[in-house]
Amino acid sequence: MDADSSSGDGRHVFRSWSAQGGERPLTVAGAQGSWFWDRDGNRYLDLASQLVNVNLGHQHPRLLAAIAEQSRKLCTIGPNFSNDTRDRLARLIAERAPGDLDRVFFTNGGTEANEHAVRMARLATGRSKVLTAYRSYHGATAGSITLTGDPRRWPNEPGLPGVVHFFGPYAYRTAFHAEDERQECERALRHLEEVLHMEGPHTVAAVLLETVVGTNGVLVSPDGYLAGVRELCDRYGALLICDEVMVGFGRIGEWFAVDAWQVVPDLITFAKGINSGYVPLGGVVVSERVAAAFDDRVYPGGLTYSGHPLACAPGIATIEVFEETGVLEHVRRLGREVLGPGLAKLADQHPSVGEVRGRGLFWAIELVRDRATREPLVPFNASGAAAEPMAAVMNSCVAEGVWPMCQMNRIHLAPPLVITEDELRRGLDAIDTALYTADTYVT
Ligand code: PLP
Repeated sequence: MDADSSSGDGRHVFRSWSAQGGERPLTVAGAQGSWFWDRDGNRYLDLASQLVNVNLGHQHPRLLAAIAEQSRKLCTIGPNFSNDTRDRLARLIAERAPGDLDRVFFTNGGTEANEHAVRMARLATGRSKVLTAYRSYHGATAGSITLTGDPRRWPNEPGLPGVVHFFGPYAYRTAFHAEDERQECERALRHLEEVLHMEGPHTVAAVLLETVVGTNGVLVSPDGYLAGVRELCDRYGALLICDEVMVGFGRIGEWFAVDAWQVVPDLITFAKGINSGYVPLGGVVVSERVAAAFDDRVYPGGLTYSGHPLACAPGIATIEVFEETGVLEHVRRLGREVLGPGLAKLADQHPSVGEVRGRGLFWAIELVRDRATREPLVPFNASGAAAEPMAAVMNSCVAEGVWPMCQMNRIHLAPPLVITEDELRRGLDAIDTALYTADTYVT
């Protein structure tokens, strides 16, 4: 029996974010640590941690053992019962969350987490509107795709009412004609306040933003921005929801990314890194203040698989491994000493690199046709790796044995947090080679 007839030819899977008649994706046969491989034994360094979720790498023995052990004890139990594994993970998360964020509502992923965070904010404040950034991704269901600010929401419009978009800071492609990051930050805050005024502050339940914007460009919040948004929310009685689905649990070297700026939101959403996606899990960390709004009334929402024991068990193991092996410090060191400087060097050498930016093990290389005009290598709404010439850049990476994530005109690098220094340097060498392909498109 050949591999295809034993495993199916893939044509029965209706694929996400893809034309169904398009090319079949690579079939992955196995994975270990920072690597995965196909049926022919071609190995790839996973520079994207799949979809920025495999934070502890593939097949981590501690996570596998936790799942196996839990499966022998209790595979599933409804959220209408208490369960030790779920309770313990909630306590571990609450202990690491900032300020009074002390309760955890579990979901099956990030999209649902954002849906519930927004629903909580609306019910807790009695207000309806939610402000989110244009350059943002918050998930793929009807509600969360409306919250999303990027072109992925367009085919799904009109979406839910009450969502209003604003411009967050993006110094390289500023909407505010700012001359530097400080000015960009000030003007972005003034713009957000203006949007609040125009929408009627008494109608705004929450501002929802990614602490570090992920798939829209790895836009690290400038110092002062999150604190400024916190202040605006306090001034106008709106809640602050930080979406940390991509950056929570270590991606930038912090348990929660807001810790880097010492800002305390009212709600934080998380998923991916909490258990490296071995079993789907997400959630909302809720402040005592917001939770108190539901002390005497029912929160009208729940999920059959909320806090699934098989998902929570590797979540507990993840937190233990982080602490026992110093994962956060490893991420900060590799970001500071290897990835950041390595990318800065590539930016100097390759005319196609407009900017590199990031923090910890979360970086983007923004590719341009012309450094002076900053004309992007592909237009704003191009679909990442599929659009030429980004497809050529991605193909070159794959030929070099590395698998980053290409989004619009950018190469995103988000390797497993356990990647070694040698592996990371090897990845940088492969990206260097791929950038020669990008350079051929410079005008
Ligand atoms: N929010 C952010 C910032 C994300 O990056 C993602 C997914 O990439 C989501 C939400 C949606 O999460 P999920 O795909 O787990 O539903």
